[in-house]
Amino acid sequence: MYDMYVKKCKQTNDCPVKLWCYRDIFNKKFNLSFHPPRKDTCKRCDLMKLSIEAAKGEGDEAKAAQVQGEHELHLRKAEAARTALEAERQESASHEAFTFDLQKVLSLPKLSTNEVYYCRQLSVYNLGIHSLTTNKVTMNVWDETVASRGAEDIGSCLLQYCLALADVGIKTISAYSDSCGGQNRNHKIALIWMHICEISNIEEINHKFLVCGHSYLPNDSDFGVIERATQKSCELYVPEQWCSIIEKCSRKNPYTVVRMKQEMFVSVSDLVKRCTVRKTSLQGKKVEWLKMQWIQVRKSSPMKLYFKYSIQEDIAFDCVDFGKKDRGVQVLSSLKPAYDQHRTLSKEKAQDLKKLLKYVPPIYHEFYTTKTSQAVLSSSHEVLEEQCSDSETETPSTTRSASRSSTVKKNRICEHAADTGTPVTTQNGGRSTRSGQRSVRN
Ligand SMILES: [Zn+2]
Repeated sequence: MYDMYVKKCKQTNDCPVKLWCYRDIFNKKFNLSFHPPRKDTCKRCDLMKLSIEAAKGEGDEAKAAQVQGEHELHLRKAEAARTALEAERQESASHEAFTFDLQKVLSLPKLSTNEVYYCRQLSVYNLGIHSLTTNKVTMNVWDETVASRGAEDIGSCLLQYCLALADVGIKTISAYSDSCGGQNRNHKIALIWMHICEISNIEEINHKFLVCGHSYLPNDSDFGVIERATQKSCELYVPEQWCSIIEKCSRKNPYTVVRMKQEMFVSVSDLVKRCTVRKTSLQGKKVEWLKMQWIQVRKSSPMKLYFKYSIQEDIAFDCVDFGKKDRGVQVLSSLKPAYDQHRTLSKEKAQDLKKLLKYVPPIYHEFYTTKTSQAVLSSSHEVLEEQCSDSETETPSTTRSASRSSTVKKNRICEHAADTGTPVTTQNGGRSTRSGQRSVRN
């Protein structure tokens, strides 16, 4: 920073003060300090910076300039998405804009004993929705025996939220989310958006994706409030205690907690059945889901998904038609539940939870004995599912049914990883994982 100051002084023909003087003024006259960045840096930025340095080191100015250009474009894209988000902060009777994100996994029991670090815990998920127009925050909470955290699970929370908006006269919706992995950017979420337009008075939904690593959503600070509220060694044993902390932690702007019950999670399988998820657009181009920055569905054009690889208003949408060629669209007023029974825990997790029971007050024992007594799956299922979740790809629907054999699940999970084109273990990259006890953010 001092070097930059000296450089600036040279430009303006001023005489720079000495470093000790600069340091003294900085420390005493300004209310500023340094802290480590709260979020991980962007993987693409880091790689591009390295390759610019490398090219410069080798004297390859052309290469350095080329990567520099790419980096500037990347930064402009990130900035355009941020600007679009900020522009949404106006209240309107018929339009609603919100951002959504999953909090990193909350664990139970939350204990101060260090034995907990060596044990698998029950995962509690929280999907936060932050209204940009009203600043109201809705937190959707459930535990892993209720539902997973794949696209359909996220979509089920969004479905509920949007139908409630439709009831109060909202006609158009803008949703913003990060674009890391397959959780938010896939045909299942698109089908949920289409379904919302079909069964409600919502006329148009726009879903914009912020550039990975640059997506500082308002949800991040909402989650920060929850984290700060639980930092002071508070012990928690059941999901309801997490819910009540979330309800109370923000005094100025209290969060609404929706306790997601299993029957609230819907499956998009019926929606998938009546459409063709085409891989080519009406313009004859390949549909690249992972490049999409903006998707749009319209009540007036059922089964059509409009999309662009940019956040800019003046770039035209491309369109992909999901409608079946031979059949007319049959309206589905409600969707089937995604789960027909509690999701079971792995044997290892159940064992670890039993080990931790000695630290849990007896009144909460019943909760854990019910969760751990149910049939358990083989460990390979658990490991694979965690890898998939960590890579933020959606959990395939086959993991939903406890009755199938683990071999089937294993194959389907790998297939799934293959067809999204993302390797199971590397997608996560520079971003911190959201799984509780293995989180690198802690
Ligand atoms: Zn970046």
